[in-house]
Amino acid sequence: MRAHLSTSLTTVRNLGILAHVDAGKTTVTERMLFLAGATYKRGEVHDGTTVTDFDSQERDRGITIFAAAVSCDWAGHRINLIDTPGHVDFSDEVERSLRVLDGAIAVFDGVAGVEPQSESVWRLADRYGVPRIVFVNKLDRAGADLDSAVESIRRRLHPAPLVVQLPIGREDGFAGVVDLVRMRSLAWTGGACEEGEVPEELREEALRRRRLLEEAVAELHAEALEEFCAGPSISARTLGAALRDLTRTGAGVVVLCGSAYRDRGVEPLLDAVVAYLPSPLDVPAMRGQDGAERPADPAAPLAALAFKVNSTATGRLTYVRVYSGTMRKGDTVLDASAGRTERISRILRVQADRHTEVDRAVAGDIVAVVGPKAARPGTTLCAPGSPLVLEPPGAADPVVSVA
Ligand code: GDP
Repeated sequence: MRAHLSTSLTTVRNLGILAHVDAGKTTVTERMLFLAGATYKRGEVHDGTTVTDFDSQERDRGITIFAAAVSCDWAGHRINLIDTPGHVDFSDEVERSLRVLDGAIAVFDGVAGVEPQSESVWRLADRYGVPRIVFVNKLDRAGADLDSAVESIRRRLHPAPLVVQLPIGREDGFAGVVDLVRMRSLAWTGGACEEGEVPEELREEALRRRRLLEEAVAELHAEALEEFCAGPSISARTLGAALRDLTRTGAGVVVLCGSAYRDRGVEPLLDAVVAYLPSPLDVPAMRGQDGAERPADPAAPLAALAFKVNSTATGRLTYVRVYSGTMRKGDTVLDASAGRTERISRILRVQADRHTEVDRAVAGDIVAVVGPKAARPGTTLCAPGSPLVLEPPGAADPVVSVA
């Protein structure tokens, strides 16, 4: 079955998951895909059947070596997850993936907090101006503590962590969160995520933390400050809008918590991706090396950046981020880096463990294409009549390619 990739750009989120090895990136990704209905078989990391790690070398080694892009749909939004390796030896690949992201989730272990590797990936994301939200994972583990994880974030990564949840229960008894923006509780029991009133015994603590959140946001956001001063409190609507603005400008970083081991434990994370992280229209336009902007407009001349090349049974798959224009099946495009024209013979949307063939991909999309023979990570594919080489935002040096 053929389909168009016709999602409106405002409802697209291109994001990566950044983490220290073992923080739970694979498990969190897998749970997100599962909740968003994109997976058919449910995998666990330890038996080597998770969805994002579909390369056999990865399965053998049990670490995420090669980036893969996977799409899923949540609350009317298309979420394209670009897998970024966490292992420090593969930082070139981390860097290449960062160039095509509009936003990221940084996952931390609730026991270990910020670790050296997470710090170096965080700095790289700073360099590329990637807006982030934080997910403190594994709150079910013995010794996990949200407050000390947040303190290590404040000390080592960002001066303004904005904690939007209060955990319900500790360690083994971790059973949900209070959403401090809406002041509702979300409890995951069995397979359900039940929303309800804030439990009586947590009400005082939740109000205290909500106040701290309001103070932190008011300090950074003019409109929120106005409401804060007028009192008695900032509305959920203004608070949500302020958190979105602060995330997108990098002035603050929203912190959520949970456990990928709880069935619906990453549902609020998916909601936060939609609410706070930017769409392709909310980030600065990509520029060519000539300095001219390439708007995220399907009607503009084509400009796409390759960030990953894989040899698979389907053929040579080149993963591209389309920045400008529309790429159609059968089109002849210019590989501006190699100076040769190529035919796009197939366009594939990668959903978990299957590929769906589509007729076209428009600005903002991330797809895999078959046809280009010389494209490498960092190659620009463009309309032959409008040649250009893309200059990724923040890129100070040339892309390092692998053969
Ligand atoms: P990655 O290296 O960051 O991709 O981490 P993985 O997803 O492979 O997780 C590392 C280990 O932590 C695996 O054994 C997971 O089963 C385990 N893990 C992941 N999430 C959680 C969690 O929320 N709670 C607990 N207790 N363990 C987790």
